[in-house]
Amino acid sequence: MIRLSQPHVGERSVQLVSEVIRSGQLASGPYVSELETRVAALTGVAHAVAVSSGTAALEMAFEATLRPGDTVLTTPFTFAATLNSALRAGAVVRFADVDEEGNLDPESVWAELDSSVTAIVPVHLYGRPCAMIELARAADEVGAIIVEDAAQALGARDSSGRAVGSWQIGCFSLYATKNVSAGEGGVLTTDDDRLAGWFRRFANQGSSTRYEYEMVGTNRRLTDIQAALALPQFDEITALTERRRDNAERLRAGLTGLTGLRLPSDHPGHVYHQFTVRVTADARLSRDSLRQHLRDAGIESGVHYPRLVYDYPCYLTHPGVKPGDHPVASRLTREVLSLPVHPGLTTAEIEKVIDTVRSVLRA
Ligand SMILES: *Cc1c(COP(=O)(O)O)cnc(C)c1O
Repeated sequence: MIRLSQPHVGERSVQLVSEVIRSGQLASGPYVSELETRVAALTGVAHAVAVSSGTAALEMAFEATLRPGDTVLTTPFTFAATLNSALRAGAVVRFADVDEEGNLDPESVWAELDSSVTAIVPVHLYGRPCAMIELARAADEVGAIIVEDAAQALGARDSSGRAVGSWQIGCFSLYATKNVSAGEGGVLTTDDDRLAGWFRRFANQGSSTRYEYEMVGTNRRLTDIQAALALPQFDEITALTERRRDNAERLRAGLTGLTGLRLPSDHPGHVYHQFTVRVTADARLSRDSLRQHLRDAGIESGVHYPRLVYDYPCYLTHPGVKPGDHPVASRLTREVLSLPVHPGLTTAEIEKVIDTVRSVLRA
């Protein structure tokens, strides 16, 4: 089976994890600090705070900056964690539509914008950076904060060369399928000393000195075992991202010219967490039958995402969720298909993906 994702855990990770186990220091320690240093350097921010998941990072970003009833404006084309974490902070969540690549469309954000919006939450979908300069301008207009859901986009840079996660608060995920993986884990990034201190205390029972409690906190810590698993991937992140970008380029070259298949346009800062194509209505076969043909050929694919994030009864009946009219995002839920692009793929595997899609979609 050609998998859609494959964690890049090498001998070095096995070694480091064994060292942690032998050290007897199983909770948060020097490896977590080293991981924080790596993420801060990669993102170009003053502070990175490692936490137990990407969802925890988002929840903390909202809890630190929003009051219950505040309005969050985000994309309807995202993973549930974006919405869940805002709702847990008591926010009212509204949505703007996306562009053809699946990222928040600044024009739609401007159309939805009013003085009640306290946070704008861009999601760098598939590892593709959002139009941050335009979104930051919109946020400035109403004094809203920017919380980036950069869970899929560690190492990505927008067209100005600025790293995702470096605007105000960045939220990264180290989940098993993400570009850098600790199994589970997350990181908050910020230049704000006060926020960074709040994140550290909150994640550690509200305390920066043992048994001195300064606020009502909780436990959102990452462990050294998890950090040791992820750390060696930072040594290789540039090469691993280059491999993803090369694989995307090969897929793009091999899949051009098929009726009913639209390819993602390139962006120089895209880190290709996913390579997501669109199967449009004029294709010979539906998206779902193409998916079945790929499965029959031993190729895993994914639909990110099959429904708008709020399009489930638990959200549609939730008083904090404000559904709207999002024609582009709705169409994308029917068209998108993610193909394997991870750095572990061989040339022969990529060719097999290309040949299979071509043979199925060729008229
Ligand atoms: C993975 C992901 C998250 C959540 O991260 P976890 O580490 O799984 O909690 C949030 N948002 C998006 C867009 C994601 O892809």
